[in-house]
Amino acid sequence: MKCPFCHHDEFKVTDSRNHEETNSIRRRRECCQCMRRFTTFETIDLSLQVKKRDGTYEDFQTEKMIHGLDAACRHTSVSHEQVCELASKVKADLMSKGIREITSRDLGDLVIQYLQKLDVVAYIRFACVYKRFKNIRELQEAIQNITPIGLSNETEEIHAAEEK
Ligand SMILES: [Zn+2]
Repeated sequence: MKCPFCHHDEFKVTDSRNHEETNSIRRRRECCQCMRRFTTFETIDLSLQVKKRDGTYEDFQTEKMIHGLDAACRHTSVSHEQVCELASKVKADLMSKGIREITSRDLGDLVIQYLQKLDVVAYIRFACVYKRFKNIRELQEAIQNITPIGLSNETEEIHAAEEK
């Protein structure tokens, strides 16, 4: 960082304040050379890049994930609130691990892990979109991979979903 007036690079911090609502820190600085004062803002950079199947990147968008999950969870026991919670959990999970880049496949797998615990039908629907099953065998394998706990009282609903 350089002084905007004289381009010197040493400063004194004269004041430092936390802004809870924007999760940022405002610092009042004084240039050690020209003595002029200016303000800097320090914010958390939450940018996370998703590498798509075609090799291009896009910013991780919580809204987009919520939209996709809402579609998968329609007419299931999963509420919109749970969807929002899941999306923010996934993001927090990635952030806490310091992950800055993830493939859409890995992201889908992560979402699936969470979704499987919430609702088996939503899990299968979401998996169908993300994993792009090419045939019924791949779909059956995905169903077989569901943990027995998740399957216990949901078997009838899975058959209903398959018939659609
Ligand atoms: Zn200066």
